[in-house]
Amino acid sequence: MKEKQLLMLPGPTPVPQEVLQALARPMINHRGPEFKSLLAEAAEGLKEVFCTRQEVLILTGAGSGAMEAAVSNFVSPGERVLVVSIGSFGDRFAQIAQRFGAQVERLEFAWGTAADPAALADRIRADVNKEIRAVFVTHNETSTGVTNDIPALRAAVGDHPALFIVDAVSSLGAMPLETDNWNLDVVVAGSQKSFMIPPGLAFACVSPRAWDVAAKCTNARFYWDLGKAREMAAKGQTPFTPAIPQVTALVESLRMIRSEGLPGTFARHLKLREMTRHGVRALGMELLAADAVASAAVTAVFPPAGLEANALRKMLLDRFNVVVAGGQGKFDNKIFRIGHLGYVQGLDIIAVIAALEMTLNICGHKVELGSGVRAAQEVVLAENA
Ligand SMILES: *Cc1c(COP(=O)(O)O)cnc(C)c1O
Repeated sequence: MKEKQLLMLPGPTPVPQEVLQALARPMINHRGPEFKSLLAEAAEGLKEVFCTRQEVLILTGAGSGAMEAAVSNFVSPGERVLVVSIGSFGDRFAQIAQRFGAQVERLEFAWGTAADPAALADRIRADVNKEIRAVFVTHNETSTGVTNDIPALRAAVGDHPALFIVDAVSSLGAMPLETDNWNLDVVVAGSQKSFMIPPGLAFACVSPRAWDVAAKCTNARFYWDLGKAREMAAKGQTPFTPAIPQVTALVESLRMIRSEGLPGTFARHLKLREMTRHGVRALGMELLAADAVASAAVTAVFPPAGLEANALRKMLLDRFNVVVAGGQGKFDNKIFRIGHLGYVQGLDIIAVIAALEMTLNICGHKVELGSGVRAAQEVVLAENA
């Protein structure tokens, strides 16, 4: 018998049964009334998750496509942009902006730490001629398991006219993000993280100020033309053939998110984070991110000295069918990452920690069976006390 797999990645994440069933529906006309009403319901639900009164555009593609759109629609060739980077997804924004001809300046912070709002404020203050046209920030840096303080970073930019553009691919729906209240100009997200549906959709929310910039932007775009997407959305359509099953699934997953309620969803993700961190620490392993900046969506862990991260991952997969993510870039084979976002519950964390305990013992790193599990269980019981 094929064993159940425990998929603990920071995307793609597990897909609930209700959503799987929605994915299996017959195809419909994407220019017909049925799709129009699906799109309308999805767009309304997304507004709640984005905490916005603006339109949320539903795009077909990977999250990186929406990141590209967040560059090509708002930055013209030769313009200066500031990319705040704390890991590989921050670096991706810089690469995209470079490719689209921007003068890219990076404000980098050590991997495993969060961006310092004071450093951003200093750089913004120094821009007396207001040359910086956009500031790009990653909300949750998936490569390191660190969450940036978006309101503080937004405040650091203050009334400087630069657009404030946020990659919320792995944060939206797992942790608070308030597009309108936080005065964010462009926010992008993807389907395969906390939205609990398969890869294939990306989302973008654009402020009125950013739409004005887009209207004058001279960069080339065709597939990722957000103005065109907005025009078509007003007619209940998309510019090109959309991933119809994913839109059908999104309607279902948004219903599930609404029934849990965003505060409940955020509290669950925080509990999963605490269970993971306590469980892993009880096994003597170190975490990359400090508690104060630790992500509610993904936890990056150093294996014990002498054990390679990828060897441990392979053993987890081969022996227990547990899938965790590897390190990226400079952390390849140095860390492993446990994703705990989307359709994940406390018992999933208990199972991962239990598998880790056994795997460490198999690999010759003796740990007391039950010690990590117990630490995770105590988090649950303390919460219910
Ligand atoms: C997953 C992720 C992306 C990219 O999404 P793809 O769908 O793989 O292109 C971008 N940013 C962050 C923070 C992510 O976690």
